[in-house]
Amino acid sequence: MPLPDDMPDIVTRFAPSPTGQLHLGHAWSALQGYDLARSRPGGRLCLRIEDIDGGRSRPEYVAGIMADLRWLGLSWDGEPVIQSARTTVYRIALERLIDMDLAYPCFCSRADIAAQIAASASAPHGTEDGAPYPGTCRDILAAETEQRIASGEPHAWRLDVSRAKARCGPLHWWDHEAGERTAQIAADDIVLWRKDAPGSYHLCAVVDDGAMGITHIVRGQDLESATGVHRLLQALLDLPAPTYRHHRLLVGPDGRRLAKRDGGWTIAAMRTAGTNPAQLLVDLRAGRFPIGITLA
Ligand code: GLU
Repeated sequence: MPLPDDMPDIVTRFAPSPTGQLHLGHAWSALQGYDLARSRPGGRLCLRIEDIDGGRSRPEYVAGIMADLRWLGLSWDGEPVIQSARTTVYRIALERLIDMDLAYPCFCSRADIAAQIAASASAPHGTEDGAPYPGTCRDILAAETEQRIASGEPHAWRLDVSRAKARCGPLHWWDHEAGERTAQIAADDIVLWRKDAPGSYHLCAVVDDGAMGITHIVRGQDLESATGVHRLLQALLDLPAPTYRHHRLLVGPDGRRLAKRDGGWTIAAMRTAGTNPAQLLVDLRAGRFPIGITLA
């Protein structure tokens, strides 16, 4: 869709998690953010390293991401934003939601949650994201919660989604191609702060998109299901609502989307194989994918 001339400058971001090497699907995603930013004078592409999961993120993958983007010629603007350096900011956002009485501590382990879901007669069968959290810790009395926290019991923090939705009323988001969409927010109390990591993907991404002044979020269709709850967090935290573009995903010869398991499709492997990066971008823009790769 052509952009009107009075459109403000575009700020997009590429936000990989450094848990593996970049593959062709990442290049495809970064290229679309890059091309959208470069389509406007003053447009910017930011790089954000989503390394909040200290157990899975590796510094060598951070270096690899930057080297791969440089090799591809997909330059970013400004300093990369490194999430692991921003935990204080995420904590402030969490405290704000706690003060609004919209977040509660959750002491459940993964095994507890699986057992609670299995024991529930009305349990929905697992979706791609797993079955929703059954809300076990939502109604623990404040005195017990305080005592368990004081005794050092490990806990996550969850958003009380139904209370948050009631506070905000109906929400919408703007799709770059399709226009206004109603925010669909599942009845699932998402994690805001993990037991084992400072912040969750949802909280950190929303806080950073706001702090970085992102106007256009370009990311894969696999993340479209998160957009409703991101819109909810934006409304709760008084952050502006960006425009979204959820692009189609690349799939491999087996019909499954490219993932870090597909070692052969890494950018590093293509570099080693002598691929011409400029030609690779020309081909991707023209929809000519390497043999076997298609769009789903
Ligand atoms: N870090 C996420 C990923 O690598 C992307 C998150 C986003 O674009 O919102 O899949």
